[in-house]
Amino acid sequence: MDLGRVSDTALRRMGGKLAAGERLTTHDALDLYRTSDLSGLGYLADTVNRAKNGDVVTFAANQHINPTNVCVLRTTCTFCGYARLPKEAGAYRYTLDQVLAEAAHAADGLTREFHIVGGLDMQAGLEYYQAMFRALKSQFPHVHIKALTAVEIAHIARIEKMTWRDVLIALREAGLDTLPGGGAETFSAAVREQIAGKKLAGADYIGVHRTAHELGIRSNCTMLYGHVETLEDRVAHLAMLRGLQDETGGFLAYIPLAYHPDDNELGRQLGRQGTSTQGVDDLKMVAVGRLFLDNFQHVKSHWIMVTPFLSQIALHYGVNDIEGTVVREKIYHAVGAHTPQGMTLDQVLALIRGAGKQPAERDSLYRILRTFDASVPPGAVPV
Ligand code: SF4
Repeated sequence: MDLGRVSDTALRRMGGKLAAGERLTTHDALDLYRTSDLSGLGYLADTVNRAKNGDVVTFAANQHINPTNVCVLRTTCTFCGYARLPKEAGAYRYTLDQVLAEAAHAADGLTREFHIVGGLDMQAGLEYYQAMFRALKSQFPHVHIKALTAVEIAHIARIEKMTWRDVLIALREAGLDTLPGGGAETFSAAVREQIAGKKLAGADYIGVHRTAHELGIRSNCTMLYGHVETLEDRVAHLAMLRGLQDETGGFLAYIPLAYHPDDNELGRQLGRQGTSTQGVDDLKMVAVGRLFLDNFQHVKSHWIMVTPFLSQIALHYGVNDIEGTVVREKIYHAVGAHTPQGMTLDQVLALIRGAGKQPAERDSLYRILRTFDASVPPGAVPV
């Protein structure tokens, strides 16, 4: 590591710790967030990422399906512009036929993952999702099902009067493969009180993921940032994710999610409509994640939320994975994301190559399926 490229003394001290294989503390993580030496931070994160993943940047060809926007927390998640009450204008719940019709894009054989999340709908319980997963697996047996956030799993458990464990077992039997990472928001109780008052507590989000990992169901994790959280809240959130990963090793990737203030109550309350997170903060979120979460292999940038341009730069700030070729995305576009709803394979390849990196298509468990440059052998990225 060439610490001559780092000007901030706190970062130089951390560079020494990283070179010695020492773990960063929560105090270190705060200093990382506070630094004004953005290029030094990027250099440290890029160095750590290259040691883990080389120059390979992965993506998956996935399709988002949002089967219901009906949600019992419609009025208390103030940052959400997607949810509706059952009889409200714009409320919808797909029938099984509608889900299959939307999934039909996968008939082209390129889609390898369904990413399925939606609202906490009292009419969408265990049977609704079991029938959906069984039908999808029957028609598209090659497509991985990454579905239902920890919040949705806990909701199904509550309305069915079942344990998280039994819900997960029943859904796995129907075809569930892994869990997405949504619903984490920021774990701080004070933040949750303000932006998601009735949502599953942070400790319970961790509890659902721990249960999934114990059952052998891998999962992803996120943090929603750029709303009312403090830097201390961010660090505490990362510490909880790192703690569970130490216990189980079940997380596949960490994905910071940028808050969009348009078309939601929180944005109106904060007077922030028409603004979005800033590029420097977006880059710090991935870089600090890469450096503090030393037990994570993968850090992902979600271009739908931060733009493809920012995601491309993030490939030099510790990111080794980007959202792939998404077919239809409703949730972030409901709160004002102005990005395209999907990218073609050529666009994804151009974005990665443009950053001087080597693209590789992966499956949902991060195994490399296809490479595009001769120097990347299949299997080059560890799972
Ligand atoms: S964020 Fe999720 S739980 Fe909250 S209102 Fe929106 S859909 Fe419902």
